[in-house]
Amino acid sequence: QYTTTTTSTTSTTDIITPLERVGAHSHIHGLGLNDLLEALPENESNLVGQPTARRAMGLVFKMIQQGQLGGRAVLLAGPPSTGKTALAMGLSQEIGEAVPFVHLSASQVFSRDLSKTEALTQAVRRAMGIQIVEETEVLEGEVVEIQIDSFAGDNKGKKAGKLTLCTTDMETIYDLGHKMLEMLRTEQISAGDVIRIDKGTGQIRKLGRSFTRSRDYDAVSSTTKFVPTPEGEIQKRQTITHMVSLHEIDVINSRQQGFLALFAGDTGEIRQEIRDQIDVKVAEWKEEGRATLVPGVLFLDEVHMLDMECFSFLNRALESEWAPFVVMATNRGLSKIRGTDYISAHGIPVDLLDRLMIISTQPYSVDELRQILQVRCTEEQVEMTPTALELLTRIASETALRYAMHLITMSQLQAERKKRSIVELEDVELCYQLYYDVKRSTKLLMEYQNQFLFNELSVEQEEEA
Ligand code: ADP
Ligand code: ADP
Repeated sequence: QYTTTTTSTTSTTDIITPLERVGAHSHIHGLGLNDLLEALPENESNLVGQPTARRAMGLVFKMIQQGQLGGRAVLLAGPPSTGKTALAMGLSQEIGEAVPFVHLSASQVFSRDLSKTEALTQAVRRAMGIQIVEETEVLEGEVVEIQIDSFAGDNKGKKAGKLTLCTTDMETIYDLGHKMLEMLRTEQISAGDVIRIDKGTGQIRKLGRSFTRSRDYDAVSSTTKFVPTPEGEIQKRQTITHMVSLHEIDVINSRQQGFLALFAGDTGEIRQEIRDQIDVKVAEWKEEGRATLVPGVLFLDEVHMLDMECFSFLNRALESEWAPFVVMATNRGLSKIRGTDYISAHGIPVDLLDRLMIISTQPYSVDELRQILQVRCTEEQVEMTPTALELLTRIASETALRYAMHLITMSQLQAERKKRSIVELEDVELCYQLYYDVKRSTKLLMEYQNQFLFNELSVEQEEEA
């Protein structure tokens, strides 16, 4: 049943979504470190400040590169808007697409039709990549001639023929059946094309037109790709690597679901027996050298939203032999563990905290805030006068960075309405008045709370306010 998986998962590399490039972080292109893992102040990654945390994430990156991850986890801890998500995005950009990167917000664990542990199990298995190597025999060469024999009488309509292929070193003639001829026709292959035929499946691919034919003007269109005539033997061995995640193999092999569920995104619960069988199978492939396990990264945001059951699940998952590298993030200090009355650092139980390396992020200086806002303006293609940017920076330092970032887009719209291409001070001012930040909104609520529905403040609290 499972041996079929390799073929059915061909070219699923792109199903692993490395990480959604969320708009808010689209400006981040890496961690911006030098070879010694020191944070570069000016860099192409667009990450600003936070040198210690970046360095620490750099070491994480090195560990991932060297595959030394099993069961390790880090916790990014710091106030809101101090770049925790940005750092995780930077890490994902550094590791590239060869290693799976899964982003899960703790609230997603609760909001699906799945049980909490099932949602976490799926996330963990999605972060475990399996590289499958297949060897196939291919014929690769330049088409010298295609000869089609027509038949008369009983076999009328049937076709057979001969295909002559060459490399720089040799030339061979192959007999072709009806099916292969049809395929050559639908692929519009003619003399002078360089092609590859998969001997196993009989599939034909056109790699391009031979350079030697580049002077045949009439056969050339603007989209024609020229390639050199292959060298050496026509018959070659070719290795193809596929990357799939454990979760994809689970889904494909779970009977009720089938692989179409991968595209619908609705995979439902997967039975434990299936997972166990797959683990056994993958372990066998590993033994035989047909597959390599590639532990990826699971980024768990808002981790304080998880409850005891989830934490104990994570504890166990981290001990397992096949575990991804887990990066957690939280903006809570000492707080209650969800669903209990216990107070713990970051709202995480001590036994899990014990396993985590904690990376702390610090609030930004005014200069750093200005730099981040500047980067965002460039990213959103917004031009702003220096005084407008200065005001925005002040707003960011006195309210919140995220709020100031939203004002960039709003001010741009306002400027456009006034038919200006550059955002000026008054645009930012107006937007600041139009859209409240949390602080002002809270103040307003305190002042006018009697007029709102569901006023829950007690009389004493009102007096305090
Ligand atoms: P957190 O996850 O700590 O609440 P975010 O990473 O979401 O904060 O940061 C808020 C916004 O500021 C995001 O749009 C993020 O991309 C941006 N940002 C935060 N820190 C940096 C930084 N050091 N360099 C560039 N952009 C940053
Ligand atoms: P617990 O289950 O009590 O939380 P663990 O058994 O996970 O603790 O121990 C934590 C780590 O220390 C593990 O890596 C374990 O292998 C190691 N360890 C604990 N006790 C010993 C011991 N007596 N000898 C060798 N290694 C130990």
